Amino acid sequence: MNKDHLWHPFTQMKDYNNSDPLIIERGEGIMLYDVQGRAYYDGFSSVWLNVHGHNVPELNQAITEQLGRVAHSTLLGMANVPAIELAEKLVGITPEGLNKVFYSDSGATGVEIAIKMAFQYWHNKGIQGKTKFITMNQAYHGDTVGAVSVGAIPLYHDVFRPMLFPSHVIPYPYSYRHDGGETKAMEDTLTALRNLLETRADEIAALIVEPIVQGASGIIVMPPGCLSQMANLCRKYGVLLIADEVATGFGRTGAMFACDLEDVSPDLMVIGKGLTGGYLPVAATLATDEVYEAFYADYQEQKTFFHGHSYTGNPLGCAVALASLKLFEERNMVEGVRAKASFVEHKLAALKDRPHVGEIRQKGLMIGIELVRDKISRETYDWADRIGVRTSLRARELGMLTRPLGNVIVFIPPLVSSEAELDAMTDILEASILHVT
Ligand code: PLP
Repeated sequence: MNKDHLWHPFTQMKDYNNSDPLIIERGEGIMLYDVQGRAYYDGFSSVWLNVHGHNVPELNQAITEQLGRVAHSTLLGMANVPAIELAEKLVGITPEGLNKVFYSDSGATGVEIAIKMAFQYWHNKGIQGKTKFITMNQAYHGDTVGAVSVGAIPLYHDVFRPMLFPSHVIPYPYSYRHDGGETKAMEDTLTALRNLLETRADEIAALIVEPIVQGASGIIVMPPGCLSQMANLCRKYGVLLIADEVATGFGRTGAMFACDLEDVSPDLMVIGKGLTGGYLPVAATLATDEVYEAFYADYQEQKTFFHGHSYTGNPLGCAVALASLKLFEERNMVEGVRAKASFVEHKLAALKDRPHVGEIRQKGLMIGIELVRDKISRETYDWADRIGVRTSLRARELGMLTRPLGNVIVFIPPLVSSEAELDAMTDILEASILHVT
């Protein structure tokens, strides 16, 4: 039945139909169990979103209690209690100045909202022509049409170009593959941004960026200071900054938000994934008062933000998000991530000298291991080698789930993972890499 009727996302169904399908039946802690009862470590947090593990009593309870009240009611012109409480909480934990919360249901829709808000912000202020966006090379912001328009991964995005709005693309500082290393990579990024802003700021609405770690391109970490300098340039030239914290938010990088690592306060910030602890699809776009006030007017001025989704501000999702944030506080999750991250860093250090390990990149519990055919020349594996896929399949045989990004092996464990679990998972990771390379 799975093969007959299900069309899986980001999946070549011809490959899938020829494979041994994995069908998950239940989860407990950081383990997932398939219908045959086989156990797997959730080594990529079910696509980068699980925080406290699976089947968590406190989170289950929050949903059941809310279910006994109301499962859903709209936010269009009305409110519900968990949505209000969560908004207040989010304003308290996000960077300074973000005081308004607009809900949606996935990272992509959160990005879509940020883009439309930035666009309409300038329109509402009566400033003509600021209609374009700047993005970064290899950026990924989700799969809806607006999010793809500011996406820059050719494999995913090029086919859709004719239906998208064009964006300016500046280089992302990919130090490992830059001849000048970290310093020069960052200089190139900042120079490109400065040049663009000096000549074209009057036609640019916003810069959108994955702060500190570019995720889907291969877990690529920015050189220190890069994000804050980009933010300063945006401020200087009157261009909004949209921080897409969908992947990096909620402790993943060792700070509650990656922007906190460099004291950056964006004009708009998108959160999703870990917001509900990895339980239900809720995302949000946070805005400053300055942005909000550009929309706040008498109705006939036509400044309303005409955007919303049927399930915007879903009470079940907001209730579980509140319960997740309570666990963050009670369990000192963010501090815990920093300690666990150094344990993993130490553990993976042994892999660095292996002949096909090009670079190990890590920020908090967000880790990417780039495999190369030749360590000296950094020659990549041909994508037909499917080195990433084969490594992940081996990891699965050894009892851990992960999903590669091309030749980059991803290790993004649930934040709750214990040292013993991290130890076991990194052993599997190492064994899988050595088996395949
Ligand atoms: N933005 C970033 C930085 C992401 O990494 C992702 C997903 O991986 C998204 C947006 C899209 O989120 P979603 O899959 O919830 O639409």
